[in-house]
Amino acid sequence: MNAPKNYDVIIIGGGPAGLSAGIYTARARLKTALIEKGAVGGMIINAALVENYPGYADGVSGIDLTQAMHKQATKFGLETLSAEVTGISVNGKNKVVKTSAGDFSARAVIIAGGSARQKLGVPGEAVYTGKGVSYCATCDGAFFRDKVVAVIGGGNAAVTEALELVKFASKIYVIHRRHELRATKIVQEKAFAERKIEFIWDSVVTAVLGGVFVNKIRLKNVKTGKESEIAVDGVFVNVGSQPATGYLKGMLTLDANGAIVVNHKMETSVPGIYAIGDIRSDSIRQAIGAAGDGAIAAVNAGKYLGD
Ligand SMILES: Cc1cc2nc3c(=O)[nH]c(=O)nc-3n(C[C@H](O)[C@H](O)[C@H](O)COP(=O)(O)OP(=O)(O)OC[C@H]3O[C@@H](n4cnc5c(N)ncnc54)[C@H](O)[C@@H]3O)c2cc1C
Repeated sequence: MNAPKNYDVIIIGGGPAGLSAGIYTARARLKTALIEKGAVGGMIINAALVENYPGYADGVSGIDLTQAMHKQATKFGLETLSAEVTGISVNGKNKVVKTSAGDFSARAVIIAGGSARQKLGVPGEAVYTGKGVSYCATCDGAFFRDKVVAVIGGGNAAVTEALELVKFASKIYVIHRRHELRATKIVQEKAFAERKIEFIWDSVVTAVLGGVFVNKIRLKNVKTGKESEIAVDGVFVNVGSQPATGYLKGMLTLDANGAIVVNHKMETSVPGIYAIGDIRSDSIRQAIGAAGDGAIAAVNAGKYLGD
């Protein structure tokens, strides 16, 4: 078997956290590979307009923001590999990162894998995924031009997705299990002002129904217990996310939510392995926090490699 290709630093995940770390390590002349299993850019590519990232007075799309970060890191020598990381093994200072494209080794690893969308877990959800059920409005919104859709959830990401869908859908129900949104006030104000959006409060989805494609969802009012059905062509699920740490269980210390426990240097329980962005414990789950973590981890990884 060939020896794994060797790097100073391997970064797992190409969202704002991993890209920021990549800018810092590559610019510090550390031989760095970033391994991404999907599209470079991460979760923020779902945001049509990011208004709270410093330096963009008129806002910026999540795609443009992260493409610029990637270009910047690549300019300094970051290598980007397309593969899914399935495990990490540690042998003293050397770490072997196992991926769907083979093994790679590095002395420092920065984990920036973000989080994966939570499922509703109701009958019909799996059957209709790709046939009306979606987890990404930016990716699939255009398929619902002049159609009726439901967004499930009440946080920032859910309400932002509902606003994104206004461009395409004729009507958008936002279905939330509580009586008020968790989204920030500025996002709420925009949604309440949008005539295409209708809120259905205190309700959960109990089933996704249809023929070949989705044509309705069954709801239950959590206060009255009353069940009802509404006709929809699409269902956008946005009920939270879980840190993408499945392959790290038993290897690193995780908190009760499955996020990686780190200290203020972004160091994990294993020397030379760092965790940043949405995947780490106590993350603010915002792009600027992820980017800040990336810089902290990269600088500390540089010091670790120099020792
Ligand atoms: C609709 C929506 C709107 C948002 N709007 C805003 C906003 O306006 N402002 C803001 O600051 N934040 C916003 N956010 C939140 C923001 O997207 C996240 O906080 C940020 O993307 C976290 O960055 P990250 O790099 O930690 O993780 P992510 O962006 O999730 O990136 C992680 C990357 O790692 C990859 N990955 C995971 N596991 C593996 C593996 N095993 N192998 C290889 N690759 C892997 C994933 O494919 C992904 O690309 C929004 C989120 C959503 C969903």
